[in-house]
Amino acid sequence: MKKLILFFPFFLFAAHIFVLHRVDDFRYPSTNISSKLLEKDIKYLLKHHYKIVKLSTLVKRIENNESVKNYVVFTIDDTFKSFYKNGLPIFIKYKVPFTLFVYVQATDEHYGDYMTWKQVKNAAKYGELGIHSWAHPHLAMLSNKQIIKDTQKAINIFKKNMGYVPNMYAYPYGEYNKRVKKIINKFFKIICNQNVGAVNKYSPINDLDRIAITGNVNIAQKLKIGILNVDNLKIKREKNTIKEISGKVKYPYVFIYITTLGWKKVKTKNGYFDYKPNFTLKKYRNRVIIRYNNKLKTTLILKEE
Ligand SMILES: [Zn+2]
Repeated sequence: MKKLILFFPFFLFAAHIFVLHRVDDFRYPSTNISSKLLEKDIKYLLKHHYKIVKLSTLVKRIENNESVKNYVVFTIDDTFKSFYKNGLPIFIKYKVPFTLFVYVQATDEHYGDYMTWKQVKNAAKYGELGIHSWAHPHLAMLSNKQIIKDTQKAINIFKKNMGYVPNMYAYPYGEYNKRVKKIINKFFKIICNQNVGAVNKYSPINDLDRIAITGNVNIAQKLKIGILNVDNLKIKREKNTIKEISGKVKYPYVFIYITTLGWKKVKTKNGYFDYKPNFTLKKYRNRVIIRYNNKLKTTLILKEE
């Protein structure tokens, strides 16, 4: 019998959630995108029939087990004035919605670079809002009590000004661990991280990967990012040394990246890969990325004190 070969290019069924911060604020190149490029990207997406939706719309589709193929979400963190001034007009011009995560203390206490409540309210007419903490802390460095306090304060002040409580949250700096996630998830159903990756209808809505767009980003390239399915992924660490990374994929090899160590090609045996880098973390925030072609699986690893 002829063997049926089914080819599933899984990345084609993925959605992509982008995150941007500042627009035309060239003082901060690592978190800035030019309005020119942002407009070009949006035009590209519309021309190629991507469906640009709010995060809540994408999540509804995931919850209903519906295809999210060609769905794109723009999230904006921090509520910078530069987004309001230089980014929002583009979203309005092309009638493209977005999800804006409010850094509540910065808005409430009138930090110079940040949107006012009036501006937040105005922007919300064209998109939707989530919460990006009260004080923008490094959550993993806080005690459980402190995390709860920050979150409750963000919710209360947001509610006082906007009249409702959103169900979406984005971690400051994209930083979290299991403990942080458990606490934040008690308050919010939908949570965004900042791990590079795509999203499909099986993605957990309380741990959504996002792709940052800054600088000279090539959005066509980013849209090719797919999901690498890794079974039984284990990252063994002894305090701040990564001893072993193992798991199962359906490929003959994978590339594995660790922040500051770089990429390493690792062959699989019967689908299993087992990498023993014995590497001591240099930075506070580290990523382990497992890659096969354009498919990625990213895990955030925070250094312990
Ligand atoms: Zn932020």
